[in-house]
Amino acid sequence: MKLASSLSRLGTETAFEVLVRAKELEAEGRSVIHLEIGEPDFNTPVNIREAAKAALDEGYTHYGPPAGLPLLRQAIAEEITRTRGVGVGPDNVVVTPGGKPIIFFSLLACVDPGDEVIYPNPGFPIYESVINWMGARAVPLPIREENDFSVDVDELAALITPKTTFMILNSPGNPTGGLINRDQLARIAELAIEHNLTVLADEIYSRIIYEGEHTSLLSFPGMQEHVILLDGFSKTYAMTGWRAGYGVMPEELAFRVARLMTNSNSCTNTFVQMACVEALKGPQDEAWAMVEEFRRRREVIVEGLNAIDGITCRRPRGAFYVLPNVRALPRSSKELEEYFLEEYGVATLSGTSFGTFGEGYLRLSYANSLENLREALARMAEGVRKL
Ligand code: PLP
Repeated sequence: MKLASSLSRLGTETAFEVLVRAKELEAEGRSVIHLEIGEPDFNTPVNIREAAKAALDEGYTHYGPPAGLPLLRQAIAEEITRTRGVGVGPDNVVVTPGGKPIIFFSLLACVDPGDEVIYPNPGFPIYESVINWMGARAVPLPIREENDFSVDVDELAALITPKTTFMILNSPGNPTGGLINRDQLARIAELAIEHNLTVLADEIYSRIIYEGEHTSLLSFPGMQEHVILLDGFSKTYAMTGWRAGYGVMPEELAFRVARLMTNSNSCTNTFVQMACVEALKGPQDEAWAMVEEFRRRREVIVEGLNAIDGITCRRPRGAFYVLPNVRALPRSSKELEEYFLEEYGVATLSGTSFGTFGEGYLRLSYANSLENLREALARMAEGVRKL
């Protein structure tokens, strides 16, 4: 079969490949602790599950509008107005099956082949993959440990050329847990206006923050014309498998992105959307309790990793990942990923799964029980001793 040449430029998310290998080992009877996959280990809160069941019984089993059910778009607009402090309406909102399609659609809608797109590296691998696949030029913005995994705005400014049209930011960040603070965002907003850039602000971890408050680029004056905000239900409400997320953007763009939905998915699952209304409007205590549990786990994993000779680990400020520095160990990040999985049954991800600037790091998701985290740390400590 003939394949399109562009496919050779399409990347992937290694997390799913490591998961497959980890499952093979488990099928052979080995014990594996999963720290590779980025999803909350909690069940979706019961009120949300009940809302989905009720919606099924009420007949939400048909096609819906490509941009999303008006009720959900209204609820999202209210949520964004409240949390980001800017007035947005339902016509600014497009609901998609997960937050991920917003990455895909916003690049498709805004970027031409040959344009330069700045993206965080290490960062969510789908950014670089889709930019390359489209034939645009992927320009990495290094996310450095010495900056506490935030953004160096001077370095960012130096990357902007006349061909730069689009930029991706992710705060709180995957795989680093880093935050971009208010002052940095203010300067980035100025750059976006000065160079007329569109910015995809990936805020999928906006509710999972341990220090301070989430600040959105959308909140800054003039940014509503420049920002596509991505958020969703996967992480906040432990709904990864439901596939529900959204983008908030200028109306003119929302209309086009909805058309991309018409051409691809038709719409997002309608009974899932009714459950999302409940997620936003119903009690929030379970969602906040998850954050508190992540906070306890963060302490255990950061302390445990720092106690291992040759590993140092910063305390992440958001999301549920740590990115320990393993440069002092006599193996590459990829070799360590394989070593810990094959020899010690601990599934982690090489920092290089998130881009070339991830060399010298491993990413561990601490969306796992304290008991499993302690066992994984003991196994890794033993593994490091044997190196
Ligand atoms: N953006 C970032 C930074 C992520 O880490 C993820 C998921 O891991 C997504 C977007 C996509 O989320 P969803 O599962 O809602 O598609």
